[in-house]
Amino acid sequence: MLSRAEALALDASDPLAPFSKHFLLPQGIVYLDGNSLGALPLATSDRLVQLVRKQWGEALIGGWTTHDWLTLPRRVGDKIGRLIGADTGQVLVADSTSINLLKLLAGAVELQAPRSVILSQDGNFPTDLYIAQGLAALSGHRCRLRTVNPSEICAAIDAETAVVLLTEVDYRNGARLDMAAITACAHERGALILWDLAHSAGALPVALDACAVDLAVGCGYKYLNGGPGAPAFLYVAHALQPRLRPFLTGWLGHAEPFAFEADYRPAAGIERFLCGTPSILSLVALECGVDLLLEAPMDAIRHKSLALGDLFIDLVEGARLDFALASPREGEGRGSQVCLRHPQGYAIIQALIRRGVIGDFRSPDVLRFGFAPLYNRYTDIWDAVAALTAVMDAAEWDRPEFMRRQSVT
Ligand SMILES: *Cc1c(COP(=O)(O)O)cnc(C)c1O
Repeated sequence: MLSRAEALALDASDPLAPFSKHFLLPQGIVYLDGNSLGALPLATSDRLVQLVRKQWGEALIGGWTTHDWLTLPRRVGDKIGRLIGADTGQVLVADSTSINLLKLLAGAVELQAPRSVILSQDGNFPTDLYIAQGLAALSGHRCRLRTVNPSEICAAIDAETAVVLLTEVDYRNGARLDMAAITACAHERGALILWDLAHSAGALPVALDACAVDLAVGCGYKYLNGGPGAPAFLYVAHALQPRLRPFLTGWLGHAEPFAFEADYRPAAGIERFLCGTPSILSLVALECGVDLLLEAPMDAIRHKSLALGDLFIDLVEGARLDFALASPREGEGRGSQVCLRHPQGYAIIQALIRRGVIGDFRSPDVLRFGFAPLYNRYTDIWDAVAALTAVMDAAEWDRPEFMRRQSVT
């Protein structure tokens, strides 16, 4: 088993180590929850103060033009595109992941009529399933949601499948689906594909264009470090843009918003998927997180993410603790998190947080540990497993205060 001194040596030779000083993390905390809310980049707070004082405070309404606020959704979208293998003009920052899902799913279902099935995976993130269910109701049940085991997706795509809706990395166990193979399979059978990249963007290489993906959405506040409730993004492949009708036909998706015409006409490109006025403060915070990621080579991020995950698994297994591994053992099959299962998972996470190691819990029994290679160190992993071992050996979790559920777990 790796010693702490060996973990320190790994940190010393880590090419991504210099990035950690660009984040503001509290002293003495091991933060393994960047898959739920990314850490704060130092640049963000300065940039926001600047933005508020200089741009909003001084330029006022003129800021829309002098500071180009209106083009931010597209500009930051293009930057995110570089992280997910998308050429310019296909990614837009807007709304939340849930709303973007609704926008793209609705367009896909309409385009694919009379095909009527939205095919997704069992255990997909709840909002993905809820949005599909809501769309089914809104359509008067012209379309419906069907879910299958992730291993059976390809076999389940048939002539009724309008769109395949999948999350690349499963939020509950970190398992990663094969984007290239499943996308090809959907296309062979005439279905469109929509990938949710909430746990992919900024965490691992994604190649949307190379895989010929049709549609995607993703999250700004996880690995992109955009801040709590950061706006999300959507991707629509060039070829599909002219054919996909925007579902939320707001004024900023109009061909000429400032003509104030009475009737809706969609903009020509990706901007047609804008709805209302973008949140400029949040967009700029997101841009800070994305800019930092763009400075790091994505293959180095992936390499370190897997090394951190492998180390975590090795140390937990070596400590012979009473956990079942919920994530795939082989790195190739994982995203950037490792999950363990234990019937007392919630209380164990609370006891760990008391020791300064922050992971999270997902019902019914999953302990999640996310790895953000720009600010997590090898020694963080070592210290986290040492804390976990202490919590388990002394049954520190077995206290009433650790059993009471908080509103956000
Ligand atoms: C985090 C997450 C979301 C978040 O959706 P919001 O609309 O931002 O709340 C959506 N899908 C998946 C798979 C997620 O992990």
